[in-house]
Amino acid sequence: MKYIFVTGGVVSSLGKGIVTSSLGAILRARGYKVTAVKVDPYINVDAGTMRPYEHGEVFVTADGAETDLDIGHYERFLDIDLGRANNITTGQVYKAVIERERKGEYLSQTVQVIPHVTDEIKNRIRSAAQEQDVEVAIVEIGGTVGDIESLPFLEAIRQFQFDEEDGDVMYLHLTLVPYLQTSEEFKTKPTQHSVATLRGVGIQPDAIVLRSEKEPPQEAYKKVALFTNVRPEAVFASYNVPDIYQVPLVLEEQGLGKLVEKKLRLEPVFPNLGIWSDAVKVLRSPEDTVTIGIAGKYVKMPDAYLSLLEALKHGGIKNRVKVEVNWIDAEGLVEGDISDKFRGVDAVLVPGGFGIRGIEGKIKAAQYARERQIPYLGICLGLQVATIEYARNVAGLEGANSTEFDPYTPHPVIDLMPEQLEVEGLGGTMRLGNWPMKIKPGTLLARVYSGAQLVYERHRHRYEVNPDYVERLSDSGLQISGVTPGMAGRGAGLVEAVELDGHPFFLALQSHPEFKSRPMRPSPPFAAFVEAALRYRRARRKLAQGASGSAEPA
Ligand code: GLN
Repeated sequence: MKYIFVTGGVVSSLGKGIVTSSLGAILRARGYKVTAVKVDPYINVDAGTMRPYEHGEVFVTADGAETDLDIGHYERFLDIDLGRANNITTGQVYKAVIERERKGEYLSQTVQVIPHVTDEIKNRIRSAAQEQDVEVAIVEIGGTVGDIESLPFLEAIRQFQFDEEDGDVMYLHLTLVPYLQTSEEFKTKPTQHSVATLRGVGIQPDAIVLRSEKEPPQEAYKKVALFTNVRPEAVFASYNVPDIYQVPLVLEEQGLGKLVEKKLRLEPVFPNLGIWSDAVKVLRSPEDTVTIGIAGKYVKMPDAYLSLLEALKHGGIKNRVKVEVNWIDAEGLVEGDISDKFRGVDAVLVPGGFGIRGIEGKIKAAQYARERQIPYLGICLGLQVATIEYARNVAGLEGANSTEFDPYTPHPVIDLMPEQLEVEGLGGTMRLGNWPMKIKPGTLLARVYSGAQLVYERHRHRYEVNPDYVERLSDSGLQISGVTPGMAGRGAGLVEAVELDGHPFFLALQSHPEFKSRPMRPSPPFAAFVEAALRYRRARRKLAQGASGSAEPA
Protein backbone atom coordinates (compact mmCIF):
# COMPACT_ATOMS: atom_id res chain seq x y z
CA MET A 1 0.00 0.00 0.00
CA LYS A 2 1.23 3.45 -0.91
CA TYR A 3 0.06 6.59 0.88
CA ILE A 4 -0.16 10.17 -0.33
CA PHE A 5 -0.95 12.71 2.37
CA VAL A 6 -2.43 16.03 1.34
CA THR A 7 -2.24 18.99 3.67
CA GLY A 8 -3.26 22.60 3.18
CA GLY A 9 -1.88 25.93 4.18
CA VAL A 10 -2.52 29.66 4.45
CA VAL A 11 -6.33 29.56 4.28
CA SER A 12 -9.09 26.98 4.28
CA SER A 13 -11.58 26.43 1.43
CA LEU A 14 -8.78 26.26 -1.12
CA GLY A 15 -10.36 23.40 -2.96
CA LYS A 16 -8.10 20.83 -1.38
CA GLY A 17 -10.79 18.22 -1.93
CA ILE A 18 -10.73 18.89 -5.64
CA VAL A 19 -6.95 18.72 -5.85
CA THR A 20 -6.99 15.48 -3.83
CA SER A 21 -9.70 14.06 -6.10
CA SER A 22 -7.87 15.19 -9.22
CA LEU A 23 -4.70 13.52 -8.02
CA GLY A 24 -6.77 10.38 -7.58
CA ALA A 25 -8.18 10.78 -11.06
CA ILE A 26 -4.76 11.03 -12.68
CA LEU A 27 -3.65 7.87 -10.90
CA ARG A 28 -6.90 6.12 -11.85
CA ALA A 29 -6.21 7.21 -15.43
CA ARG A 30 -3.02 5.12 -15.20
CA GLY A 31 -5.01 2.08 -14.15
CA TYR A 32 -4.06 2.19 -10.48
CA LYS A 33 -6.64 1.25 -7.88
CA VAL A 34 -7.02 4.26 -5.62
CA THR A 35 -9.05 5.21 -2.58
CA ALA A 36 -9.27 8.45 -0.66
CA VAL A 37 -9.77 9.27 3.00
CA LYS A 38 -10.83 12.59 4.48
CA VAL A 39 -9.70 13.55 7.94
CA ASP A 40 -11.77 16.27 9.58
CA PRO A 41 -10.22 17.68 12.73
CA TYR A 42 -13.55 18.92 14.17
CA ILE A 43 -15.05 17.29 17.24
CA ASN A 44 -18.37 16.37 15.63
CA VAL A 45 -18.49 12.60 15.16
CA ASP A 46 -19.82 13.12 11.67
CA ALA A 47 -21.08 15.90 9.43
CA GLY A 48 -24.72 14.90 9.88
CA THR A 49 -25.43 17.43 12.58
CA MET A 50 -23.71 20.35 10.87
CA ARG A 51 -25.44 23.19 9.06
CA PRO A 52 -25.21 22.93 5.29
CA TYR A 53 -25.24 26.70 5.23
CA GLU A 54 -21.81 26.74 6.86
CA HIS A 55 -20.19 23.48 5.84
CA GLY A 56 -21.91 22.66 2.58
CA GLU A 57 -23.96 19.56 1.98
CA VAL A 58 -23.91 16.42 4.07
CA PHE A 59 -22.84 13.68 1.68
CA VAL A 60 -24.44 10.28 2.25
CA THR A 61 -22.54 7.09 1.43
CA ALA A 62 -24.03 3.77 0.36
CA ASP A 63 -23.45 2.36 3.85
CA GLY A 64 -25.36 5.24 5.38
CA ALA A 65 -22.63 7.48 6.76
CA GLU A 66 -23.25 11.22 6.86
CA THR A 67 -19.97 12.64 5.65
CA ASP A 68 -18.10 15.70 4.52
CA LEU A 69 -18.85 16.85 0.97
CA ASP A 70 -15.29 16.00 -0.11
CA ILE A 71 -16.26 12.32 0.04
CA GLY A 72 -18.65 13.18 -2.79
CA HIS A 73 -15.82 14.69 -4.82
CA TYR A 74 -13.74 11.57 -4.25
CA GLU A 75 -16.57 9.28 -5.37
CA ARG A 76 -17.18 11.33 -8.51
CA PHE A 77 -13.52 11.72 -9.51
CA LEU A 78 -12.39 8.22 -8.59
CA ASP A 79 -15.63 6.53 -9.64
CA ILE A 80 -15.74 4.34 -6.53
CA ASP A 81 -18.16 3.87 -3.64
CA LEU A 82 -16.68 4.92 -0.34
CA GLY A 83 -18.08 4.36 3.13
CA ARG A 84 -18.12 5.24 6.78
CA ALA A 85 -14.42 4.46 7.23
CA ASN A 86 -13.39 7.06 4.65
CA ASN A 87 -14.26 10.08 6.78
CA ILE A 88 -12.30 10.22 10.03
CA THR A 89 -13.02 12.95 12.59
CA THR A 90 -11.53 13.98 15.91
CA GLY A 91 -14.90 13.07 17.43
CA GLN A 92 -14.66 9.46 16.26
CA VAL A 93 -11.04 9.12 17.33
CA TYR A 94 -11.56 10.42 20.86
CA LYS A 95 -14.84 8.55 21.27
CA ALA A 96 -13.06 5.29 20.46
CA VAL A 97 -10.08 6.04 22.70
CA ILE A 98 -12.26 7.07 25.65
CA GLU A 99 -14.55 4.05 25.25
CA ARG A 100 -11.49 1.78 25.23
CA GLU A 101 -10.12 3.50 28.31
CA ARG A 102 -13.43 3.02 30.15
CA LYS A 103 -13.39 -0.68 29.33
CA GLY A 104 -9.97 -0.86 30.93
CA GLU A 105 -8.29 -1.89 27.72
CA TYR A 106 -5.28 0.35 28.23
CA LEU A 107 -4.59 -1.54 31.46
CA SER A 108 -2.84 0.83 33.80
CA GLN A 109 -1.34 3.15 31.23
CA THR A 110 -1.72 6.92 31.17
CA VAL A 111 -3.74 7.51 28.00
CA GLN A 112 -2.16 10.30 25.95
CA VAL A 113 -2.37 12.06 22.61
CA ILE A 114 0.94 10.45 21.64
CA PRO A 115 0.85 7.48 21.23
CA HIS A 116 -2.77 6.52 21.97
CA VAL A 117 -4.64 9.08 19.93
CA THR A 118 -2.08 9.06 17.13
CA ASP A 119 -2.16 5.23 17.02
CA GLU A 120 -5.94 5.30 16.78
CA ILE A 121 -5.63 7.76 13.87
CA LYS A 122 -3.05 5.61 12.11
CA ASN A 123 -5.15 2.48 12.57
CA ARG A 124 -8.18 4.19 11.16
CA ILE A 125 -6.28 5.49 8.13
CA ARG A 126 -4.81 2.04 7.51
CA SER A 127 -8.06 0.18 7.85
CA ALA A 128 -9.90 2.64 5.61
CA ALA A 129 -7.19 2.15 2.99
CA GLN A 130 -7.27 -1.63 3.32
CA GLU A 131 -11.04 -1.89 3.25
CA GLN A 132 -11.00 -1.25 -0.48
CA ASP A 133 -8.58 -3.47 -2.28
CA VAL A 134 -6.38 -0.64 -3.62
CA GLU A 135 -2.77 0.19 -4.36
CA VAL A 136 -2.74 3.87 -3.41
CA ALA A 137 -4.59 5.64 -0.61
CA ILE A 138 -4.77 9.41 -0.73
CA VAL A 139 -5.40 10.94 2.68
CA GLU A 140 -6.54 14.54 2.89
CA ILE A 141 -6.13 16.36 6.18
CA GLY A 142 -8.89 18.92 6.57
CA GLY A 143 -8.23 22.39 7.92
CA THR A 144 -5.00 24.32 7.69
CA VAL A 145 -1.51 23.52 8.91
CA GLY A 146 -0.99 25.45 12.12
CA ASP A 147 -4.49 24.78 13.49
CA ILE A 148 -4.33 23.46 17.04
CA GLU A 149 -6.86 20.75 16.30
CA SER A 150 -4.95 19.26 13.37
CA LEU A 151 -1.77 18.63 15.37
CA PRO A 152 -2.48 15.00 16.38
CA PHE A 153 -3.32 14.19 12.77
CA LEU A 154 -0.13 15.78 11.44
CA GLU A 155 1.86 13.87 14.03
CA ALA A 156 0.16 10.64 12.99
CA ILE A 157 0.88 11.16 9.30
CA ARG A 158 4.45 12.20 10.08
CA GLN A 159 5.00 8.78 11.67
CA PHE A 160 3.89 7.00 8.50
CA GLN A 161 7.14 7.81 6.73
CA PHE A 162 9.01 5.73 9.31
CA ASP A 163 6.37 3.03 9.71
CA GLU A 164 6.30 2.33 5.97
CA GLU A 165 9.00 1.44 3.49
CA ASP A 166 10.95 4.11 1.58
CA GLY A 167 9.01 5.06 -1.52
CA ASP A 168 5.63 4.18 -0.04
CA VAL A 169 4.75 7.56 1.44
CA MET A 170 4.58 10.99 -0.06
CA TYR A 171 3.40 14.38 1.20
CA LEU A 172 1.75 17.03 -0.91
CA HIS A 173 1.04 20.50 0.40
CA LEU A 174 -1.48 22.88 -1.12
CA THR A 175 -1.21 26.58 -0.37
CA LEU A 176 -2.68 29.83 -1.51
CA VAL A 177 -0.59 32.17 -3.62
CA PRO A 178 -2.38 35.49 -3.58
CA TYR A 179 -2.18 37.74 -6.60
CA LEU A 180 -1.89 41.45 -5.90
CA GLN A 181 -3.73 43.37 -8.55
CA THR A 182 -2.06 46.70 -7.83
CA SER A 183 1.52 45.51 -8.16
CA GLU A 184 0.61 42.60 -10.47
CA GLU A 185 2.54 40.20 -8.27
CA PHE A 186 2.10 36.64 -7.09
CA LYS A 187 3.07 36.52 -3.43
CA THR A 188 4.82 33.38 -2.24
CA LYS A 189 5.59 34.50 1.31
CA PRO A 190 2.49 32.89 2.89
CA THR A 191 3.51 29.62 1.20
CA GLN A 192 7.01 29.88 2.65
CA HIS A 193 5.56 30.37 6.13
CA SER A 194 3.09 27.58 5.72
CA VAL A 195 5.75 25.10 4.63
CA ALA A 196 7.94 26.25 7.52
CA THR A 197 5.07 25.40 9.89
CA LEU A 198 4.68 22.00 8.25
CA ARG A 199 8.40 21.33 8.54
CA GLY A 200 8.17 22.41 12.16
CA VAL A 201 6.00 19.38 12.85
CA GLY A 202 8.44 17.16 11.00
CA ILE A 203 6.92 16.94 7.55
CA GLN A 204 8.93 17.97 4.52
CA PRO A 205 6.56 18.10 1.55
CA ASP A 206 7.55 16.18 -1.59
CA ALA A 207 5.36 18.32 -3.79
CA ILE A 208 3.67 21.68 -3.52
CA VAL A 209 0.56 22.78 -5.35
CA LEU A 210 0.05 26.51 -5.51
CA ARG A 211 -3.57 27.55 -5.53
CA SER A 212 -3.86 30.76 -7.46
CA GLU A 213 -6.29 32.85 -9.42
CA LYS A 214 -4.18 32.78 -12.57
CA GLU A 215 -1.27 30.73 -13.80
CA PRO A 216 1.77 31.97 -11.86
CA PRO A 217 4.96 32.92 -13.73
CA GLN A 218 8.05 30.65 -13.72
CA GLU A 219 9.81 32.77 -11.07
CA ALA A 220 7.07 32.00 -8.57
CA TYR A 221 7.65 28.23 -8.88
CA LYS A 222 11.41 28.72 -8.59
CA LYS A 223 11.11 30.91 -5.56
CA VAL A 224 8.80 28.48 -3.79
CA ALA A 225 11.17 25.62 -4.59
CA LEU A 226 14.15 27.52 -3.21
CA PHE A 227 12.47 28.58 0.01
CA THR A 228 10.69 25.34 0.78
CA ASN A 229 13.36 22.77 0.02
CA VAL A 230 11.44 21.21 -2.86
CA ARG A 231 12.69 20.65 -6.42
CA PRO A 232 11.31 23.16 -8.96
CA GLU A 233 9.74 20.29 -10.94
CA ALA A 234 7.79 19.34 -7.81
CA VAL A 235 5.99 22.69 -7.64
CA PHE A 236 2.66 22.82 -9.46
CA ALA A 237 -0.19 25.26 -9.77
CA SER A 238 -3.90 24.74 -9.58
CA TYR A 239 -5.18 27.98 -11.02
CA ASN A 240 -8.82 28.90 -11.59
CA VAL A 241 -10.44 27.00 -14.44
CA PRO A 242 -14.02 27.26 -15.68
CA ASP A 243 -14.91 23.80 -14.39
CA ILE A 244 -13.52 21.49 -11.69
CA TYR A 245 -13.39 18.59 -14.15
CA GLN A 246 -10.52 20.40 -15.84
CA VAL A 247 -8.29 20.20 -12.76
CA PRO A 248 -7.03 16.63 -13.43
CA LEU A 249 -6.00 17.78 -16.91
CA VAL A 250 -4.25 20.89 -15.61
CA LEU A 251 -2.27 18.93 -13.01
CA GLU A 252 -1.40 16.09 -15.36
CA GLU A 253 -0.16 18.53 -17.97
CA GLN A 254 2.29 19.94 -15.45
CA GLY A 255 3.63 16.49 -14.63
CA LEU A 256 2.11 15.75 -11.23
CA GLY A 257 1.33 12.18 -12.29
CA LYS A 258 4.91 11.59 -13.36
CA LEU A 259 6.26 12.98 -10.12
CA VAL A 260 4.02 10.69 -8.07
CA GLU A 261 5.13 7.70 -10.14
CA LYS A 262 8.73 8.57 -9.44
CA LYS A 263 8.31 9.31 -5.76
CA LEU A 264 6.19 6.23 -5.06
CA ARG A 265 8.26 4.06 -7.37
CA LEU A 266 5.32 3.13 -9.53
CA GLU A 267 5.67 1.69 -13.01
CA PRO A 268 5.34 4.67 -15.42
CA VAL A 269 2.09 4.33 -17.34
CA PHE A 270 0.60 6.55 -20.02
CA PRO A 271 -2.56 8.07 -18.53
CA ASN A 272 -5.92 7.91 -20.25
CA LEU A 273 -7.76 11.06 -19.25
CA GLY A 274 -10.35 10.75 -22.02
CA ILE A 275 -13.38 11.01 -19.76
CA TRP A 276 -12.16 14.32 -18.38
CA SER A 277 -11.29 15.88 -21.71
CA ASP A 278 -14.64 14.73 -23.15
CA ALA A 279 -16.50 16.24 -20.21
CA VAL A 280 -14.57 19.49 -20.51
CA LYS A 281 -15.30 19.61 -24.24
CA VAL A 282 -19.07 19.46 -23.69
CA LEU A 283 -18.88 21.94 -20.84
CA ARG A 284 -16.90 24.33 -23.02
CA SER A 285 -18.94 24.06 -26.19
CA PRO A 286 -22.38 22.69 -25.39
CA GLU A 287 -24.99 22.26 -28.13
CA ASP A 288 -27.62 24.09 -26.12
CA THR A 289 -28.41 25.43 -22.67
CA VAL A 290 -31.21 24.60 -20.26
CA THR A 291 -32.20 26.59 -17.22
CA ILE A 292 -33.31 24.69 -14.12
CA GLY A 293 -35.19 26.63 -11.48
CA ILE A 294 -34.26 25.29 -8.05
CA ALA A 295 -36.68 26.29 -5.33
CA GLY A 296 -34.57 25.93 -2.23
CA LYS A 297 -33.70 27.42 1.09
CA TYR A 298 -29.94 27.91 0.88
CA VAL A 299 -29.96 29.86 -2.36
CA LYS A 300 -26.86 31.80 -1.35
CA MET A 301 -24.80 28.72 -0.57
CA PRO A 302 -24.54 26.48 -3.65
CA ASP A 303 -22.25 24.07 -1.75
CA ALA A 304 -25.30 23.14 0.31
CA TYR A 305 -26.57 21.44 -2.86
CA LEU A 306 -23.22 20.31 -4.25
CA SER A 307 -24.07 16.76 -5.35
CA LEU A 308 -27.36 17.93 -6.79
CA LEU A 309 -25.61 20.54 -8.94
CA GLU A 310 -23.00 17.99 -10.01
CA ALA A 311 -25.72 15.49 -10.94
CA LEU A 312 -27.42 18.15 -13.07
CA LYS A 313 -24.08 18.87 -14.71
CA HIS A 314 -23.64 15.14 -15.41
CA GLY A 315 -27.11 15.06 -16.93
CA GLY A 316 -26.03 18.03 -19.04
CA ILE A 317 -22.86 16.28 -20.23
CA LYS A 318 -24.92 13.26 -21.26
CA ASN A 319 -27.33 15.46 -23.23
CA ARG A 320 -24.48 17.67 -24.50
CA VAL A 321 -26.02 20.79 -23.00
CA LYS A 322 -25.02 23.32 -20.44
CA VAL A 323 -27.19 23.37 -17.34
CA GLU A 324 -27.75 26.78 -15.85
CA VAL A 325 -29.34 27.16 -12.46
CA ASN A 326 -31.81 29.81 -11.54
CA TRP A 327 -32.03 29.92 -7.75
CA ILE A 328 -35.54 30.62 -6.62
CA ASP A 329 -35.83 31.61 -2.99
CA ALA A 330 -38.74 29.49 -1.80
CA GLU A 331 -39.70 32.09 0.78
CA GLY A 332 -40.40 34.53 -2.04
CA LEU A 333 -42.96 32.23 -3.67
CA VAL A 334 -45.79 32.65 -1.24
CA GLU A 335 -47.59 35.85 -2.16
CA GLY A 336 -49.18 37.02 -5.39
CA ASP A 337 -48.31 36.12 -8.97
CA ILE A 338 -45.25 33.90 -8.91
CA SER A 339 -44.89 33.34 -12.66
CA ASP A 340 -42.26 36.09 -12.81
CA LYS A 341 -39.97 33.99 -10.67
CA PHE A 342 -40.13 31.16 -13.21
CA ARG A 343 -39.42 33.27 -16.28
CA GLY A 344 -36.93 31.55 -18.57
CA VAL A 345 -37.02 28.38 -16.49
CA ASP A 346 -37.16 25.11 -18.47
CA ALA A 347 -37.75 22.82 -15.52
CA VAL A 348 -38.37 23.02 -11.78
CA LEU A 349 -36.48 21.13 -9.11
CA VAL A 350 -37.33 21.02 -5.42
CA PRO A 351 -34.35 19.60 -3.52
CA GLY A 352 -34.09 17.93 -0.13
CA GLY A 353 -34.38 19.94 3.02
CA PHE A 354 -35.34 20.09 6.66
CA GLY A 355 -37.49 22.50 8.64
CA ILE A 356 -40.48 24.63 7.87
CA ARG A 357 -38.77 27.63 6.33
CA GLY A 358 -39.82 28.08 2.71
CA ILE A 359 -42.16 25.07 2.73
CA GLU A 360 -45.27 26.82 1.42
CA GLY A 361 -43.18 28.28 -1.40
CA LYS A 362 -41.85 24.85 -2.32
CA ILE A 363 -45.42 23.54 -2.39
CA LYS A 364 -46.28 26.42 -4.75
CA ALA A 365 -43.34 25.54 -6.97
CA ALA A 366 -44.60 21.95 -7.29
CA GLN A 367 -48.09 23.23 -8.06
CA TYR A 368 -46.77 25.63 -10.68
CA ALA A 369 -44.85 22.85 -12.44
CA ARG A 370 -47.82 20.47 -12.27
CA GLU A 371 -50.37 22.94 -13.58
CA ARG A 372 -48.19 24.46 -16.29
CA GLN A 373 -46.84 21.12 -17.49
CA ILE A 374 -43.25 22.16 -16.77
CA PRO A 375 -40.81 19.29 -16.10
CA TYR A 376 -40.52 18.69 -12.35
CA LEU A 377 -38.05 16.71 -10.31
CA GLY A 378 -38.63 16.36 -6.59
CA ILE A 379 -35.87 15.06 -4.38
CA CYS A 380 -36.77 13.77 -0.90
CA LEU A 381 -38.48 16.85 0.54
CA GLY A 382 -39.33 17.58 -3.10
CA LEU A 383 -41.44 14.41 -3.13
CA GLN A 384 -43.05 15.31 0.15
CA VAL A 385 -44.10 18.81 -0.99
CA ALA A 386 -45.38 17.44 -4.31
CA THR A 387 -47.51 14.96 -2.36
CA ILE A 388 -48.83 17.64 -0.01
CA GLU A 389 -49.67 19.86 -2.98
CA TYR A 390 -51.51 17.06 -4.74
CA ALA A 391 -53.38 16.11 -1.58
CA ARG A 392 -54.55 19.66 -1.01
CA ASN A 393 -55.32 20.77 -4.53
CA VAL A 394 -56.35 17.60 -6.35
CA ALA A 395 -57.35 14.98 -3.79
CA GLY A 396 -59.38 17.53 -1.84
CA LEU A 397 -57.59 16.94 1.46
CA GLU A 398 -57.79 20.46 2.80
CA GLY A 399 -55.00 21.44 5.17
CA ALA A 400 -52.92 18.40 4.23
CA ASN A 401 -49.36 18.69 5.46
CA SER A 402 -46.37 16.88 6.86
CA THR A 403 -46.29 16.45 10.61
CA GLU A 404 -42.77 17.86 10.37
CA PHE A 405 -44.33 21.25 9.63
CA ASP A 406 -47.78 20.97 11.23
CA PRO A 407 -48.16 18.33 13.95
CA TYR A 408 -51.91 19.04 14.13
CA THR A 409 -52.72 18.85 10.41
CA PRO A 410 -56.10 17.18 9.74
CA HIS A 411 -54.44 15.19 6.96
CA PRO A 412 -50.91 14.08 7.81
CA VAL A 413 -50.11 12.83 4.31
CA ILE A 414 -46.43 12.90 5.25
CA ASP A 415 -45.67 11.44 8.63
CA LEU A 416 -42.82 10.15 10.74
CA MET A 417 -41.72 6.63 9.86
CA PRO A 418 -42.67 4.22 12.67
CA GLU A 419 -39.04 3.34 13.37
CA GLN A 420 -38.39 7.03 13.95
CA LEU A 421 -40.79 7.22 16.90
CA GLU A 422 -38.32 5.73 19.36
CA VAL A 423 -35.27 7.52 18.04
CA GLU A 424 -33.29 9.55 20.53
CA GLY A 425 -30.82 12.22 19.46
CA LEU A 426 -30.25 13.68 16.03
CA GLY A 427 -26.87 12.22 15.02
CA GLY A 428 -26.98 9.32 12.59
CA THR A 429 -30.58 8.38 13.42
CA MET A 430 -32.37 8.98 10.11
CA ARG A 431 -33.18 6.40 7.48
CA LEU A 432 -29.79 6.52 5.79
CA GLY A 433 -27.88 5.07 2.90
CA ASN A 434 -28.85 2.56 0.24
CA TRP A 435 -32.41 1.25 0.17
CA PRO A 436 -34.05 -0.72 -2.62
CA MET A 437 -36.86 0.64 -4.76
CA LYS A 438 -39.23 -1.61 -6.71
CA ILE A 439 -40.29 0.05 -9.93
CA LYS A 440 -43.75 -0.30 -11.44
CA PRO A 441 -43.43 -1.37 -15.08
CA GLY A 442 -44.75 0.94 -17.76
CA THR A 443 -44.21 4.12 -15.74
CA LEU A 444 -42.02 7.15 -16.37
CA LEU A 445 -39.80 5.86 -13.56
CA ALA A 446 -39.36 2.53 -15.37
CA ARG A 447 -38.39 4.41 -18.52
CA VAL A 448 -35.96 6.59 -16.61
CA TYR A 449 -34.21 3.52 -15.18
CA SER A 450 -34.19 1.79 -18.59
CA GLY A 451 -36.67 -0.88 -17.59
CA ALA A 452 -34.94 -1.93 -14.35
CA GLN A 453 -37.32 -3.45 -11.80
CA LEU A 454 -35.24 -2.89 -8.69
CA VAL A 455 -32.70 -0.15 -8.06
CA TYR A 456 -30.83 1.13 -5.02
CA GLU A 457 -30.59 4.80 -4.16
CA ARG A 458 -29.30 6.59 -1.08
CA HIS A 459 -31.64 8.05 1.52
CA ARG A 460 -31.57 10.60 4.31
CA HIS A 461 -34.95 11.30 5.85
CA ARG A 462 -37.22 10.75 8.85
CA TYR A 463 -40.61 11.26 7.22
CA GLU A 464 -42.45 9.36 4.50
CA VAL A 465 -45.73 9.33 2.62
CA ASN A 466 -48.26 8.15 5.18
CA PRO A 467 -49.41 4.63 4.15
CA ASP A 468 -52.95 5.48 5.35
CA TYR A 469 -53.25 8.02 2.53
CA VAL A 470 -51.70 6.02 -0.28
CA GLU A 471 -55.01 4.64 -1.58
CA ARG A 472 -56.78 7.98 -1.47
CA LEU A 473 -53.91 9.71 -3.27
CA SER A 474 -53.57 7.10 -5.98
CA ASP A 475 -57.35 6.99 -6.49
CA SER A 476 -57.23 10.68 -7.25
CA GLY A 477 -54.46 10.19 -9.82
CA LEU A 478 -51.13 10.36 -8.07
CA GLN A 479 -49.18 7.50 -9.60
CA ILE A 480 -47.05 5.63 -7.07
CA SER A 481 -44.36 4.26 -9.36
CA GLY A 482 -41.74 3.17 -6.84
CA VAL A 483 -42.04 1.46 -3.46
CA THR A 484 -39.74 -0.20 -0.96
CA PRO A 485 -40.17 -3.92 -1.60
CA GLY A 486 -41.04 -6.52 0.98
CA MET A 487 -42.57 -4.35 3.67
CA ALA A 488 -44.90 -7.04 4.96
CA GLY A 489 -48.04 -5.85 6.68
CA ARG A 490 -47.71 -2.32 5.41
CA GLY A 491 -49.92 -2.51 2.35
CA ALA A 492 -48.26 -0.81 -0.54
CA GLY A 493 -44.84 -0.52 1.15
CA LEU A 494 -43.07 2.77 1.65
CA VAL A 495 -43.59 5.20 -1.20
CA GLU A 496 -40.28 5.74 -2.98
CA ALA A 497 -41.46 7.57 -6.09
CA VAL A 498 -44.54 9.37 -7.38
CA GLU A 499 -45.36 10.74 -10.82
CA LEU A 500 -48.26 12.15 -12.83
CA ASP A 501 -49.76 10.53 -15.87
CA GLY A 502 -50.50 13.01 -18.61
CA HIS A 503 -47.72 15.37 -17.54
CA PRO A 504 -44.62 15.52 -19.78
CA PHE A 505 -42.25 14.88 -16.88
CA PHE A 506 -43.31 15.00 -13.27
CA LEU A 507 -41.20 12.74 -11.09
CA ALA A 508 -40.46 12.84 -7.39
CA LEU A 509 -38.28 10.50 -5.37
CA GLN A 510 -37.94 9.91 -1.66
CA SER A 511 -34.27 9.11 -2.18
CA HIS A 512 -31.32 11.30 -3.19
CA PRO A 513 -30.11 9.85 -6.50
CA GLU A 514 -27.67 12.74 -6.85
CA PHE A 515 -25.29 11.01 -4.43
CA LYS A 516 -24.69 8.18 -6.89
CA SER A 517 -24.23 10.37 -9.96
CA ARG A 518 -20.85 10.34 -11.69
CA PRO A 519 -19.56 12.37 -14.61
CA MET A 520 -19.10 9.15 -16.56
CA ARG A 521 -22.37 7.61 -15.33
CA PRO A 522 -25.01 10.27 -14.71
CA SER A 523 -27.85 9.48 -12.36
CA PRO A 524 -30.77 8.27 -14.52
CA PRO A 525 -33.42 10.60 -13.00
CA PHE A 526 -31.14 13.61 -13.46
CA ALA A 527 -30.18 12.71 -17.03
CA ALA A 528 -33.85 12.20 -17.92
CA PHE A 529 -34.84 15.42 -16.19
CA VAL A 530 -32.27 17.47 -18.13
CA GLU A 531 -33.48 15.81 -21.32
CA ALA A 532 -37.08 16.75 -20.46
CA ALA A 533 -35.96 20.32 -19.76
CA LEU A 534 -34.28 20.43 -23.16
CA ARG A 535 -37.43 19.15 -24.86
CA TYR A 536 -39.47 21.76 -23.05
CA ARG A 537 -37.05 24.51 -24.04
CA ARG A 538 -37.04 23.48 -27.68
CA ALA A 539 -40.82 23.32 -27.76
CA ARG A 540 -41.05 26.78 -26.24
CA ARG A 541 -38.48 28.08 -28.68
CA LYS A 542 -40.50 26.73 -31.59
CA LEU A 543 -43.63 28.32 -30.25
CA ALA A 544 -41.88 31.65 -29.78
CA GLN A 545 -40.38 31.48 -33.26
CA GLY A 546 -43.81 30.74 -34.71
CA ALA A 547 -45.30 33.68 -32.84
CA SER A 548 -42.70 36.38 -33.32
CA GLY A 549 -39.87 35.03 -35.40
CA SER A 550 -37.50 35.51 -32.49
CA ALA A 551 -35.11 32.69 -31.67
CA GLU A 552 -35.09 32.79 -27.90
CA PRO A 553 -37.97 32.02 -25.56
CA ALA A 554 -38.79 34.55 -22.87
N1 GLN B 1 -37.29 16.74 6.16
C1 GLN B 1 -37.70 15.60 5.41
C2 GLN B 1 -37.57 14.32 6.19
O1 GLN B 1 -36.87 14.24 7.16
C3 GLN B 1 -36.95 15.51 4.10
C4 GLN B 1 -35.52 15.18 4.25
C5 GLN B 1 -34.72 15.42 3.01
O2 GLN B 1 -35.16 16.09 2.09
N2 GLN B 1 -33.51 14.91 2.96
O3 GLN B 1 -38.15 13.32 5.84
